[in-house]
Amino acid sequence: MQHFPIFLDLAGRRVIVSGGGDAALAKLRLLLKTEAQITVFAAQPDRQIITWAAEGVLTLVPRALEPGDTLCAVLFYGANEDAVEDARAAALARSEGALVNVVDNLQDSQFITPAIVDRDPVTVAIGTEGAAPVLARAIKADLEERLPATLGTLARIGKTFRKMAEALPFGRARRDFWQDYYFNAGPRAITQGEEAVGQALDDLLARHLERDQRPGHISFVGAGPGDPDLLTLKARKALDAADVVIHDRLVPQPILELARREATMIDVGKTGFGPSTRQEDIDALIVKHGLEGAQVVRLKGGDCTVFGRLDEEIEAVLAAGLSYDVVPGITAASAAVASIGQSITKRGRNASARVMTGHDMQGFADHDWRSLARPGEVAAIYMGKRAAHFLQGRLMMHGAAPDTPVTVVENASRPDQRVLDTTLDRLATDLGAAGFDGPALMLYGLAPRDGLPVTSFDQEAYQWPASSHPKSSPQTPSSLATSSI
Ligand code: SAH
Repeated sequence: MQHFPIFLDLAGRRVIVSGGGDAALAKLRLLLKTEAQITVFAAQPDRQIITWAAEGVLTLVPRALEPGDTLCAVLFYGANEDAVEDARAAALARSEGALVNVVDNLQDSQFITPAIVDRDPVTVAIGTEGAAPVLARAIKADLEERLPATLGTLARIGKTFRKMAEALPFGRARRDFWQDYYFNAGPRAITQGEEAVGQALDDLLARHLERDQRPGHISFVGAGPGDPDLLTLKARKALDAADVVIHDRLVPQPILELARREATMIDVGKTGFGPSTRQEDIDALIVKHGLEGAQVVRLKGGDCTVFGRLDEEIEAVLAAGLSYDVVPGITAASAAVASIGQSITKRGRNASARVMTGHDMQGFADHDWRSLARPGEVAAIYMGKRAAHFLQGRLMMHGAAPDTPVTVVENASRPDQRVLDTTLDRLATDLGAAGFDGPALMLYGLAPRDGLPVTSFDQEAYQWPASSHPKSSPQTPSSLATSSI
């Protein structure tokens, strides 16, 4: 970095511009944004400069620069658009102690003026050391578009409120307050005029002071199977109020984006060291943020009460003396049966259904296979992909019919949902061939309703029910799946 960027306080300081044409005008327009005492030396000044002089915003001396003219000046601009005259004037200014800039002459300049995005008091200065003015202009244009024109006003009003905001403790509470001001309350209020912003700041501070008094609280929230539209209103409200969101891998980005903008998002689904964060560490993290006074949302895929290790986390929260609530969500089994037009229970077929896991912490999970093997039984099997072979073997060994329908729904409710329609005897083979790599739920004892389209696997991203495939017949339940792989 050859040029060091600083913001110079020019209030009351002398700044000299030598020249009266377009180059001088361009510099003067920028300089007039400051409170500098500007003097222009120009034998033939532009009319605009004469007008400015008449208005008293600058001093005009209608002749070329002479020795002594730049005494006590901090900055000097050579803007004569004449190399010889600029060199002469710059030499005078330098000898009298001013920092010198010669327009369009990087080599003879001691400082350069950056491209500026002006949202006073917020100022963005962009410099490229003269290497790529085109780039600087592009960055400036981009920022001009992105930063709302009202940003400066908000910052100016915000600045007058800084002392008041010290009523909030330093750190997260104060930071949250300012974030809330700049990104929510402020922009909303300013549409009603500047006075509304003052009132909004008062209200916001009262709200944040109240929030700061609240003890920490943990909401265990079910995020549903993935489709943001399947989030409950209560889950949305909890996300809206969260200071910290601790979520696992199953929760997709569109749902995470619904969290309060200021919320700290913590992904405990993966770490740099291993596939997942240890349960004790998750418990400790929840408790730590709760004890710091945060409104914590522990966001889990589906329903947090289904294979979510909820009890361990509740116990940790209770042991720390913190309060909690549970917001149920739509579990993957509900989304999966919905996608195949079936119900989990059906009069005359099954009066009960099982919610089971394919494997637990010890490995493949054992179940009451004999009862499950009876005709008409239905089970929603979570985490069953890897256990498919084991499940198939156990059930058939206990007398389950080989043609018992099994439907596997991958990414239920998501745009990339896929459905495998098969039978028990083909389950492991078909599942292996399908190569599902997303979360998948097995519906044992259920086939997609007749006439409903079922996806095959040659479709990259199947969007239910946008395209249709004829459902395979019950006699050749896996033909569709296998033939298309
Ligand atoms: N609490 C979750 C389940 C967590 S266990 C719930 O209620 O849905 C993780 C398992 O859930 C996955 O291995 C998979 O079997 C299932 N699962 C979760 N989301 C799913 C989805 N969108 N589609 C299919 N299965 C899903």
